[in-house]
Order: sequence, then C-alpha cells, then structure tokens
Amino acid sequence: MDFVKIRILGAHNTESENTKYTCFLIDDTLAVDAGALTASLSFKDLARLEAVLLTHEHFDHIRDIPTTAFNLFFQDRSLNLVCTAGVKKAVIKYLFNKTIYPEYHKLPRGKPTITFSIIRPGGRFRIGGYEVTAIPVLHTKSAIGFLVSDNQNSSTFFSSDSGPGFLKNWKYPLPQTIITEVTMPDRFAGFASQTGHLTPQTLAAEISGCSRLTGHRPNILVAHLHPLYEQELKRELAIISAKLNLQIAVAAEKMILEI
Ligand SMILES: [Zn+2]
Ligand SMILES: [Zn+2]
Repeated sequence: MDFVKIRILGAHNTESENTKYTCFLIDDTLAVDAGALTASLSFKDLARLEAVLLTHEHFDHIRDIPTTAFNLFFQDRSLNLVCTAGVKKAVIKYLFNKTIYPEYHKLPRGKPTITFSIIRPGGRFRIGGYEVTAIPVLHTKSAIGFLVSDNQNSSTFFSSDSGPGFLKNWKYPLPQTIITEVTMPDRFAGFASQTGHLTPQTLAAEISGCSRLTGHRPNILVAHLHPLYEQELKRELAIISAKLNLQIAVAAEKMILEI
C-alpha cells in the first residue's frame, strides 16, 4: 500500500533562523498554505508543485505566494491557488497589485503563472488524486480547514488556525490524522480565545468534547507554535497527551509523515 507523504515545511507562526511559517506539502505536489514554499523548497521541488490549498489570508499562511510565482514565472510553470473568493481578492489586492509584485495572475498573457480555483466553506472537490473537503473553522470570517483523503482511505485534517469549537459538530468522515494548531501556552488562554487560537487545555477540551471522536484514536500533530513559548507548549502538551491517553506529537520543520 502506498502512503501519503506529508512534509512539514513550516511548523510555526513566525519565522526566524530555525523556524518557518505554516506550510505542509503532500506527496510533493499539493501544498496546504504557503508560509514556507520558497523558504524551504529547491527550484526543482517548487516546479513539481501543482496547487496550494489556502486556509485564510493571514500573512503567515500566504507569505511565499509572490516569491513562488516569481520563481515559477521564470521556469515557465503555473500554479493553481485553491481558496475562497475573499482570499483571492486579498492576494490580488495586496500582493499582485503591480506595486508590491507583478500581476502574475495575468502574466504571461494567455497562460498566467497563477490561476485560482474558488471554493466555498463546506465545499467538496477533487484535486490530483485527492478528495478534499473545505471545513469551516473558527478564526477569520471564512477561514477553512482541509480534510484531504486519497483513494486508499488515508485521510488528514489540516485545521488551519482555529479557536475552540471546530470539532464540536463534526459531520465529516473522521480523519486518521489531525494536524492542528496550538499557538500559545495556557497562561495566554484569554488572548488565544480573542484571536481565534488554541492552547493545550483548549485542545484537550476540543478533543474530549467531540463525541464523534469517542473510540476513534486519531494521531494528533500540533503545529503553528509560537517559537518563544515552544518548550512551555511541549511540557503542557505532554501533560494533556498523558491525561487523554492520546498520541500528541509536536511538528517541526523537515519532519516527514507517512499516512
Ligand atoms: Zn491566522
Ligand atoms: Zn497563522
């Protein structure tokens, strides 16, 4: 049986020497978010990329779209961005606006480097060999997570950024793996909830409050970590992992999962 390979290109909410913005690469061809495409991939790897699923328009999730477009333009390649109409509007208005970067969604004429496929929250579609469902999460107005399944029932839910509540009324197939954010430690619970993010305790409540997960043991991988609080987050996550008797791993750049 073939595994789905997921490369963690960026596992953090900010960039520094050893941390990169949120970005995952599925089987070398499909990315979830664009926080670390050019920051992590070679020109050759970049040319293999066919599409990027964008969860929302925050900078840490779209940062490498202009640099990826620039590199692909000169390799005569194109890239499809799959996102909501709001994210498309923001990418064009703030990035490809002829002031910050050229209009790569129009260039080269007749065969633009960047194309868009518009999805709505709740929508299902096929891309490459994958079935993808765009699942509303609780962050920006139309932020979505992506449930990505292949033909052999390997399935992963990429939660994007989300505050508590996205698993509560889960009505979709249960994934084998959930790649979720946990951005800051429990002592910032108030700020996390105001800004639509999780802490270890709210992740624990999220998992134990989801009745559909009872008896189902998904692997949990935590990403979108704030690097300054990483050790504290790891200690708090180890405690909830033991309490829930559930495997909770912490993502890191260059990690590869086979699912
Ligand atoms: Zn965000
Ligand atoms: Zn973010």
